[in-house]
Amino acid sequence: MSTAAVTALSPILAAAAEGERPSLVVSLHDVAPATHAPCIRILDELHRLGISCTSLLVVPNYHRDGELVANREIISWLRELEAAGHETVIHGYFHERPISERETLRDRFMTRVYTNREGEFYDLSYDEAFRRISTAREQFKAAGLKPHGFIAPAWLLSIEGERAARDCEIEYTTRLASVRDLRAGNTYSARSLVYSVRTGWRRSASLAWNAVLFRRCKYAPLLRISIHPIDIEHREVWQQITRLISAARANREPTTYCDWVARARVNASN
Ligand SMILES: [Zn+2]
Repeated sequence: MSTAAVTALSPILAAAAEGERPSLVVSLHDVAPATHAPCIRILDELHRLGISCTSLLVVPNYHRDGELVANREIISWLRELEAAGHETVIHGYFHERPISERETLRDRFMTRVYTNREGEFYDLSYDEAFRRISTAREQFKAAGLKPHGFIAPAWLLSIEGERAARDCEIEYTTRLASVRDLRAGNTYSARSLVYSVRTGWRRSASLAWNAVLFRRCKYAPLLRISIHPIDIEHREVWQQITRLISAARANREPTTYCDWVARARVNASN
């Protein structure tokens, strides 16, 4: 890989490839005007836990509620967060998927049971995916933000959607179990902890599963913890999240996906 490609994301990292501690990426999903208040609370609590850089998954027009970039308050808040070390990531466009009449059983499971009709990029055409991602990128950049990544709602990104993201000059994407560098073409296995809180049984199952997953990830080079704004409203879920982050913080370096991918490029080129 060329030096230019290695340093495209973060020039500082090109000098610091080897000998680092394992990483922790905490991502906050569904950042939007509608979730602004819980997002502020979550970032405050994370800061107290020693997490002062996160990947913020920002929705350009959450549930068609209006363009994010028209909201000056949230834009200046995001710019401050970027300046403080957080990363803005484009997270879908509308974060909703209309029901299609031609759905298979698998489609129905993935878009209605696995996710609550949020899988916007699950089967979007290339052209529409390209239009939405490029519009979001232009809007964010015009607002003074610096998005490098695109992450589909519920991580449901079709092959066509991924191709569109790459053609929109997006540097990386993530799925539930991997991080993919779209420039270098490398995929890194790393399953994310994430909670489903829609019902009591989902919360119980999430608590049990994430405790197991956390133990399994003990020696993984990258630990991913994905938080949704609603998580902080469920005491047991939030307690587990903060406990696991505190434990991970003892031997892991908090970073963003953008910086992690940049570092992985350096390592891959050596
Ligand atoms: Zn989302």
